[in-house]
Amino acid sequence: MASSTRNLKVAIIGAGPGGLTLAAILRKLKIPHTIFELDASPSARIQGSMLDIHKGSGQLALEKAGLLDVFKRHMRVDATELYIRDHHGNVHIHHSEEGEEDPNRPEIDRAVLRRILLDAVEPETIQWGKKLVNVEVSATTEGKNSFVLVFADGTKSSEFDIVVGADGAWSRTRTLLRSSVPPSYVGITYLWTCIKDIDTRYPRLSEYVGKGSCFTLDSQCKNGMVCAQKNGDGTMKTFAFFPADENWKENSGIDWSKTESEFKSVLQDFVDKILPDWNDNVKDLIRECDEGEMAVRPLYRYPPGHKFEKQVSGVTLLGDAAHVIPPFAGVGVNLAMHDAYDLAQALEKVLVEGADIGAALNEYEGIMMERAGKNAELTAGNQEQFFGGGGLDKTVAFLKSVFGG
Ligand SMILES: Cc1cc2nc3c(=O)[nH]c(=O)nc-3n(C[C@H](O)[C@H](O)[C@H](O)COP(=O)(O)OP(=O)(O)OC[C@H]3O[C@@H](n4cnc5c(N)ncnc54)[C@H](O)[C@@H]3O)c2cc1C
Repeated sequence: MASSTRNLKVAIIGAGPGGLTLAAILRKLKIPHTIFELDASPSARIQGSMLDIHKGSGQLALEKAGLLDVFKRHMRVDATELYIRDHHGNVHIHHSEEGEEDPNRPEIDRAVLRRILLDAVEPETIQWGKKLVNVEVSATTEGKNSFVLVFADGTKSSEFDIVVGADGAWSRTRTLLRSSVPPSYVGITYLWTCIKDIDTRYPRLSEYVGKGSCFTLDSQCKNGMVCAQKNGDGTMKTFAFFPADENWKENSGIDWSKTESEFKSVLQDFVDKILPDWNDNVKDLIRECDEGEMAVRPLYRYPPGHKFEKQVSGVTLLGDAAHVIPPFAGVGVNLAMHDAYDLAQALEKVLVEGADIGAALNEYEGIMMERAGKNAELTAGNQEQFFGGGGLDKTVAFLKSVFGG
């Protein structure tokens, strides 16, 4: 394989979980690759909360990258504990943690997973501070394109045979496939908050959430859902999802720029507007947020059945760049990692069996988009359960069928 791999150079745009997983697998397969990431450094961005990494997808990709053992050393089986509560705080479902032996969906902090993946990638294969703005076809030989990447800082990088857009929901690579339709707003926005040292500083809130995740639902299942997660480093991260117009933040009348002593009043304004009659633990998960550790973001998706129009052979996508969905089934990272696994298999076919690049990528994209379509449907169904107004009993019965009593 080594001699043929010298002829195939892969550019990966984006060092999110999808792009890094692909790079880790390609390193194992000895396929030359370079990652280009717009962030200036690995620490430029605060990482999100916890992720459950599924056996048949995320774990499959980690195994292919030779990282399953290191993942298992860092996974958090205790964090699979789950509470479903109503907005008064009453418990409707308590799902105990999974068995230690071989858990299906162990949790891991996103920051820890990222560190595992970064450690698995040769440092010199990642170029930080490289925002892709364009991809040009420099030459076509025997039907095979060669690409030049153009970056926002004016630099270029050339002689790539394959370009993989792992650059998230607002993928620049995707627009180069001439699929100019942007993702659409799903009608739900969220506020994200963060409290460090939760066990020491707020034991009452720690107990409310338990060792893993706690979902608090409103009684109509229409006005909001608050998901709090205790991360492995003792930080509580809370996501308050609520129906709103796309520009809610700008039009909310809340002055989000307030800092220091006035910061708490911003959070109180949010609670008064969105969660006025919710129990105090939920309110405090928002109100006690550490200063500045907060963000408001609308959610976007491509609907089930969406396809991207492909114009350039040798350019492909994975993860959110191809099929962003809101997080109501908690599968986005697992899908991105599964895509990386399938794409690596396709590239192996090109190298080992001499398969045609275009045909191998088409086959990969067919598998990826079929899986993405099913998960987009699942996610839309879950969104309807949480926000469709069907009432708490119906949603709790649904969740019992998913998680057990
Ligand atoms: C609130 C919330 C909670 C979630 N919870 C879960 C969960 O519990 N489980 C789960 O599986 N999924 C979850 N998800 C979904 C998950 O975060 C995404 O599906 C996942 O991060 C997608 O990975 P990715 O690598 O495809 O893209 P991303 O994580 O978006 O990474 C894309 C990377 O590309 C870089 N980039 C972007 N544009 C460019 C450019 N032009 N040039 C160079 N680099 C670029 C970005 O900086 C970024 O590093 C959640 C999402 C949200 C919003």
